[in-house]
Amino acid sequence: MPPRLARWRDRALFRTPSRVLDGLLGTERRLRVRSAMAGLAGLLMLCCVAAMHIVARAGIAEVQWVNTWTVFCVSGLIGVFALIRSGVSRRFRDPSLTLFQMLYAVACNAAAFVIAGPARGITLPILAVILMFGIFGLSTRQMVGVLFYSLAAFGAGGVLLELREDLHQGPAMAAAYGIMIFVVLLGSTFLTTRVQATRQQLRQQKHDLAEALEHIRELATHDELTGLLNRRHMIELMRLEQRRTARSGHSLVLVQLDLDHFKAINDTHGHAAGDRALQAFARSVKASVRDSDVLSRWGGEEFVLMLCNTQPADASALLERVRRTVSALRLTHPGSAPIHLTVSIGLAQHVVGESIEQTLERADRALYAAKAQGRDRAVWAAPCEEGAGAAGAAGTIPG
Ligand code: GH3
Ligand code: MG
Ligand code: MG
Repeated sequence: MPPRLARWRDRALFRTPSRVLDGLLGTERRLRVRSAMAGLAGLLMLCCVAAMHIVARAGIAEVQWVNTWTVFCVSGLIGVFALIRSGVSRRFRDPSLTLFQMLYAVACNAAAFVIAGPARGITLPILAVILMFGIFGLSTRQMVGVLFYSLAAFGAGGVLLELREDLHQGPAMAAAYGIMIFVVLLGSTFLTTRVQATRQQLRQQKHDLAEALEHIRELATHDELTGLLNRRHMIELMRLEQRRTARSGHSLVLVQLDLDHFKAINDTHGHAAGDRALQAFARSVKASVRDSDVLSRWGGEEFVLMLCNTQPADASALLERVRRTVSALRLTHPGSAPIHLTVSIGLAQHVVGESIEQTLERADRALYAAKAQGRDRAVWAAPCEEGAGAAGAAGTIPG
């Protein structure tokens, strides 16, 4: 269904405050839409019943046949509405019973065509309306099935008219009706095919758009080389965690990691090997930390790790494990000696009241101290701004 039409339907169905509507159609969203559609089809059917009775009253059609036909139509209509409204139809593959309703309505329409006498022309627009109900609900294959079923139903009606002397309509009228029925059926099937093709196209476009959006989101939040979170996204996550920490009182530790002498690795082994070393480093750190810890590429050969709800002692143990794992890495590549990596680490525990930038600044100073003390080690920042210059005083984990 086109979005604008769906919006209009939803407004009419769901925003109209009415207990009568609730009782009649149900309150559950899907059930309500299905019941409303079945109710609308039923109302249209009742209009046709009224038209047939006018024709019968005028002596054009036989009252007895029109009465029998009315019972047939109305019982089907009540049956379908009851199946949908009670929720029984949910067990079927098509809970809206669209195909069944259409087949039933076409049968009623073909019967009306036979019994309406000289007024049988009024049934053709109704046939078009019935087929319109299938345009959005049926597949092209089902619609073609309905086309042949309708041809058979009206063909049988035509044969019946020819066989019964009193209803005989003459070959010219039979041919004219035949052509009109064929035009209505073929036109509706063609329209269904077009609508289905457009829907398929829209589905595909929606899928492509969702994929493109996912790709853009990935590009905007992740580093391409290592697949880690990028700096911008990491800052967002740290701010979020900062607010959470302020509420919960949990300990939050931020860690700056910088590969040692990485320029020399590039110079000795080439930039491509340096790239592979960065990827290997990222993989190895990620494998060493917990799932709840967040690792990001801060830029170049610098990384930031966020340890949520982590006490300093646990952070020390974790980073020591990281440091050892990294220094144990041997990255081999053809025609060159294995690359040996070490990492210097600066840690700072976030203090409630300071900004994320201030905590990072302290971690950075601790990292600087780790470098100054000989690299391949982790150094804690002093816990407050004033003491930050004395990084290392709070603890050093030497390599
Ligand atoms: P330090 O121990 O003091 O940290 O020395 P360093 O050589 O690691 O530090 P420096 O800042 O002098 O050099 C960083 C190097 O990292 C220089 C730069 O070419 C390299 N680098 C930055 N980003 C990338 C990258 O994406 N790929 C590669 N292969 N190298 C990178
Ligand atoms: Mg470095
Ligand atoms: Mg650096």
